[in-house]
Amino acid sequence: MKVYADNAATTRMRDSALSAYVETAQNFYGNPSSLYTLGQDAKTVLEDCRGQIASLLGAQAEEIIFTSGGSEADNQAILSAAKFGKLKGKMKIISTAIEHHAVLHTLNKLKKEGYEVVLLPVGTDGIVRLSDLEAALDDNTCLVSVMFANNEIGTLQPVREIGKLCRERKVLFHTDAVQAVGHIEVNVNDIGCDYLALSAHKFGGPKGVGALYVRQGAPLYPLIEGGAQERGKRAGTEALPAVKAMTVAMKEAVDTLPETQKYVTYLRNKLITGLENIPHCALNGDREKRLAGNVSFCFEGIEGESLLLLLDDRGISASSGSACTSGSLDPSHVLLAIGRVHDVAHGSLRLTLSADNTEEEIDYMIREIPEVVQYLRNMSPVWRDLQEGKRQYIL
Ligand SMILES: *Cc1c(COP(=O)(O)O)cnc(C)c1O
Repeated sequence: MKVYADNAATTRMRDSALSAYVETAQNFYGNPSSLYTLGQDAKTVLEDCRGQIASLLGAQAEEIIFTSGGSEADNQAILSAAKFGKLKGKMKIISTAIEHHAVLHTLNKLKKEGYEVVLLPVGTDGIVRLSDLEAALDDNTCLVSVMFANNEIGTLQPVREIGKLCRERKVLFHTDAVQAVGHIEVNVNDIGCDYLALSAHKFGGPKGVGALYVRQGAPLYPLIEGGAQERGKRAGTEALPAVKAMTVAMKEAVDTLPETQKYVTYLRNKLITGLENIPHCALNGDREKRLAGNVSFCFEGIEGESLLLLLDDRGISASSGSACTSGSLDPSHVLLAIGRVHDVAHGSLRLTLSADNTEEEIDYMIREIPEVVQYLRNMSPVWRDLQEGKRQYIL
């Protein structure tokens, strides 16, 4: 059996999005900046997509900038707010310890340029506390950047409350909603954010395209210089087939959200309950306040990487930590932030589900995963020490 359970890393393109991609590439190949009809027809499609994406977020069309994906959108939002802050003499940025590297590495760069960067901790539930944010906010703060939903453990952050706090303190608020859009209701006015990043390939659209929502009046500077596309804020000939496919995917994801959420939550809960029977394991992140499709566990006495390879042999595509950290030996910064010690964090497994998954696949994983975990533990010297009482179990 083949099971794709890594939808937080990327998703299979929806059939509707793939058809839209091909159809747009075939019929609207004109450059949207060209004056002849072929170009202007492409421009019409582009602006129609902008309007649709805006409306799906509760935004205005002029507030949407198309980007190459979530990473670029995060970079542009953060660097714009930081640059504006510096002009005003405000050089403090508040974020969290569990952000995606697109945010964390951008903040590291700013830190080297002299900004003060405060990373709020999260509880063992993987959720940031408002009181910590309140305590950190001051007159020197130019930006708060908190993700909507975490990509590793799926936890949902209190973005509405954070948005309210930021508005009261007149501080710009960016939210990386890459894992949220298409998976949970996202409305920029409910959140009260000034910037919001999204990426098509996380909700059944193509890779290499995304968008940044920028509230009217919020500062925005280009990362890429060149032509006057995207009102001078993002140069480069627009990737129209990708933008169209993203729009179709997002509309379908949002339109089918209630059914998908219900079905995927059912699969997720069944999988969590099934895997919890494995001795000395723990679910990562809050059980309720998490994305419908996210299952993340730590298993004591094993290596996540070996687990992934053996699961791959059995047809299961899964992940350990985030795609960006796997391949390196550093344990996930998110698992460390929720209090997992290094050894335990190394034994992590992330299974992220979509509406494509079937109940048979869940049953298959509930059969296979405990077997593979036991197989690895039988070979592990750490596990032997735990069993013989030479080491203390943590989980
Ligand atoms: C995938 C992801 C990104 C990066 O998006 P790309 O389109 O792959 O650049 C950023 N933030 C989060 C939370 C993500 O899951």
